[in-house]
Amino acid sequence: PVTGVLPSLIESLESSHRVFVAKDDLRYAHLLGAKSIYGIEDLRQLVEYLRDPERATTCRYTAETSDQDLDAQIDDLSDVLGQYSARKALEIAAAGGHNLLLFGPPGTGKSMLASRISGILPQLNIKQARDVAALYSLTNTPRDEGDWFTPPFRSPHHSCSAVSLVGGGAKPKPGEVSLAHQGVLFLDELPEFSRHSLEMLREPLESNAISIARAQHQITLPANFQFIAAMNPCPCGYLGHPTIACTDTPQQIEQY
Ligand SMILES: [Zn+2]
Repeated sequence: PVTGVLPSLIESLESSHRVFVAKDDLRYAHLLGAKSIYGIEDLRQLVEYLRDPERATTCRYTAETSDQDLDAQIDDLSDVLGQYSARKALEIAAAGGHNLLLFGPPGTGKSMLASRISGILPQLNIKQARDVAALYSLTNTPRDEGDWFTPPFRSPHHSCSAVSLVGGGAKPKPGEVSLAHQGVLFLDELPEFSRHSLEMLREPLESNAISIARAQHQITLPANFQFIAAMNPCPCGYLGHPTIACTDTPQQIEQY
């Protein structure tokens, strides 16, 4: 497989070219619904094909995975007992594409609930799935075919760098905000993220895209995600808890 082949394929198909790819990349033909993509083992096959398209052994995509189980195994809200108001909030957020902040002491299931929103979001359409797969193909971890139509769910740790959150680097790569495109970005322990990282979220939240400036050039990547965050009521987590006392000073709580 070749890194970043999918965006090139999309571009080529829009200008109705015939495209030859390494045989391993032929599975992309299925995602794109394209009949004009051919897989080759080596350059000799390509030459054979160009000399005599009729007799060449060039292969096309065979639909061996077309009956794949598109309902990838994802956690679902139906597993959750109780939690009526939190579930209702998740359902409203999912239905309206709203951002959501889950607020409460540790161990009340904030992360467990947030991770289950994928189970009630609609599957991606072909255009969305294509865009998301194209973004992932720019990283070292392309999406599994079985996940292509599942809205992405990204939950970076609060220790992650601003670059891994919004993208960038010497050879610019999409960050978490772009890998969550058409899906959900979940930030657990929101106040633990650096001020700098949180400020960087302003642009994608306002414009659904992120521009990454480099010395030589600037690139803009899509970053249209639903933002879900969770936080404790105070640094120790127990402010307002019925039986456990909060050990923080009022100043610490205020700052938090
Ligand atoms: Zn506390």
